[in-house]
Amino acid sequence: MSTQIPAPRTFPVHHHPTTTPTDSLHLETVVVRAGTGTDPATGAITTPIHLSTAYGHPGLGDSTGYDYTRSANPTRDVLQDALARLEGGVAGFALASGMSALELTVLTMAPHGSRIVALQDLYGGSFRYLDVLNEEGSHEVDFVTGIEGLRLALRRPASLVIIETPTNPMMVEIDIAEAVGLARGAGARLVVDNTFCTPVFQRPLDLGADAVVHSGTKYLGGHNDVMAGVVVVADETLAEQLNYRLNTTGATLGPFDCFLLLRGMKTLALRMERHQANARAVVEFLEGSEHVTRVLYPGYSGMVSFDLAESADIGRFLQAVRVFTFAESLGGVESLVTCPAVQTHADVPQEVRASYGLTDRLLRLSVGIEHAGDLVEDLRQALEAARV
Ligand SMILES: *Cc1c(COP(=O)(O)O)cnc(C)c1O
Repeated sequence: MSTQIPAPRTFPVHHHPTTTPTDSLHLETVVVRAGTGTDPATGAITTPIHLSTAYGHPGLGDSTGYDYTRSANPTRDVLQDALARLEGGVAGFALASGMSALELTVLTMAPHGSRIVALQDLYGGSFRYLDVLNEEGSHEVDFVTGIEGLRLALRRPASLVIIETPTNPMMVEIDIAEAVGLARGAGARLVVDNTFCTPVFQRPLDLGADAVVHSGTKYLGGHNDVMAGVVVVADETLAEQLNYRLNTTGATLGPFDCFLLLRGMKTLALRMERHQANARAVVEFLEGSEHVTRVLYPGYSGMVSFDLAESADIGRFLQAVRVFTFAESLGGVESLVTCPAVQTHADVPQEVRASYGLTDRLLRLSVGIEHAGDLVEDLRQALEAARV
């Protein structure tokens, strides 16, 4: 294959015209103020939903900044500027789903035929997507475990490294700054999926990562009512390259969904505090339970995994929960419980799952913002009901 890979084309990123720099403000303030007062005509406190797909031009060669909604939309601009600030990047992009955000990032940052190194215990859908690229031969993808796996794999050149930390659902933490160093040594750029932590607990771009992706469907949206994907990048050239591809392929987030995501994000800081406090209470309970053999929790955010002992039946446990719902997502105000081996990670071969400790008895909790006492009591009664 040719070694001459053309540089990706670029398209200038449109920022919201009335955006004011808020670098000195704290994250709590930035999320709440996002979009407030950015409509000078009305002074609207919340961001208007701009449904218009086309925009009139003042004259020949003249534009209000908006021509056609795939290229730029005022509601999406407000959201994207807020996302860029939250993650400390130069530009943010809002897409139709987390998976489309990952695809945009990979296809822009990893040229056809190049090598990608990714963590094995990524989100199941991300593993499947990269596995398909590998199978189809468009990219060479190597899956590795932990920082040592990255170190070994990055002795050879690569174009892109993709990590999550903590990983899903094993909660293995990767030192982002160290991973950046390893990626640089291999001539690669580093992308971090920050869905689990959110910028409240972790800002990968500050640690040297080139791009951050999110499933906005999870903590950023926070209410299990909007599907969205997010990319935030650290440099202008990369931003213009992503923007070119996004404008060309068109998987942008619609105005209604931009509004929902913005609205959800207003309470991000508040919600994350409660998710974390509740998760800590749940962890303390699980660690003392005779029906639990292992608890995995990084100490922050709201995701907890645990292994059910042989003394409890997993099917009966999932039927017995009343406050938790047996469902396949995370990051919303409602507490959910997932069985990764049969749900999110069903596409990861059983022997691969076993190789990194993802057992068929592992359950993953997305701890919501209900009363901690109700959550603990629910788990207690469900474990009792599942006793064999
Ligand atoms: C859900 C999820 C994704 C995929 O996002 P969608 O919005 O479902 O497309 C990617 N990464 C992580 C960590 C996720 O939890």
